[in-house]
Amino acid sequence: MKNYEKEFPLLKIKMRGLSKSFNLADPIERKKYFQAKIGQEITLLKKYLKNNSFIVYFLGKKNAGKGTYTKLMMEIFGQDKIGHISVGDMVRSAHQEMNDQKRKKELVNYLNKNYRGYISVDEGIDALLGRSTKLLLPTEFILTLIKREIDGMDRKSLFIDGFPRDLDQVSYSLFFRDLINYRTDPDIFVVIDIPESVIDVRMKNRVVCPKCHTPRSLKLLLTKEVGYDEDKKEFYLLCDNPQCQGARMIGKEGDELGIESIRKRLELDEQLIDKVFSLHGLHKILLKNTIPITMAKDYVNDYEITPEYSYQLDAKTKQVKITEKPWVIKDDKGKKAYSLLAPPVVISLIKQLVKVLNLGK
Ligand SMILES: [Zn+2]
Repeated sequence: MKNYEKEFPLLKIKMRGLSKSFNLADPIERKKYFQAKIGQEITLLKKYLKNNSFIVYFLGKKNAGKGTYTKLMMEIFGQDKIGHISVGDMVRSAHQEMNDQKRKKELVNYLNKNYRGYISVDEGIDALLGRSTKLLLPTEFILTLIKREIDGMDRKSLFIDGFPRDLDQVSYSLFFRDLINYRTDPDIFVVIDIPESVIDVRMKNRVVCPKCHTPRSLKLLLTKEVGYDEDKKEFYLLCDNPQCQGARMIGKEGDELGIESIRKRLELDEQLIDKVFSLHGLHKILLKNTIPITMAKDYVNDYEITPEYSYQLDAKTKQVKITEKPWVIKDDKGKKAYSLLAPPVVISLIKQLVKVLNLGK
């Protein structure tokens, strides 16, 4: 990814200054944090969302945190105002629907009415179900599925993740708001700049609960309880969800390879970002996941920095002792940096949205 920082002066706003510290893992404290730091901007955006909406295309490398940021926006502004469309999830769920006769019929009816493209609806369904290795799911088919998803919800601001996904889909995105009857809405490309080293460590340390599929990280995002496996000589997390009765969280196959397993995708994502930055006539927002260590003291608070955890076993008591320190990474330029937790990145997003939408003037 090229260096676009100069075009985004808002990235350089000092956010430090509040002496109070907040536990950003706690929803109630998080609410107070957002109020204290950007209460005014939140009020302006809430007022805007009462009678208006916008479309955000989230672009960032795979595992950049698009879903997490969208969830926080929903938490702040409400699910009635912010909608999330993850094209990956949507395609998977359409696949599921094909197993249910009633829902399948409804889906096929919708496609027959709304789809137009170079292959037939039946061929599109074959591609959706992966029955045809020759056919990739064409963009026209995916667009029809997104349109269906949006038709099925009340009007709200949309955060779309996974579209555009390929270079040839960028042109479609320029006219997408017409297709979904959001003609007068501002559309905004939000690009997440995140070093590959962060994605790599996130992938390699990711664990999920086998029962409820909640994702966590042994190194970066803990649950309340950590256990120790005597046989394997390794530490593990226990799921917090009471229904899971302390299920042991496990790694996903392939994750141990880290970013090398998604190298092609990452390169394509990078080309996509550069292409979007070359577009004219659209709003663009840049979000940065990291801050150089040399700048951190002036710009962010300590509790906004992602911590790194390590473990020791007390030989006598068999208790696990957890140590926490700021996680230091190398950004793509090789500079030492901290990775920011999601809430401060969302603060940058909201500030830039207020500016792009020209609120508070
Ligand atoms: Zn669970």
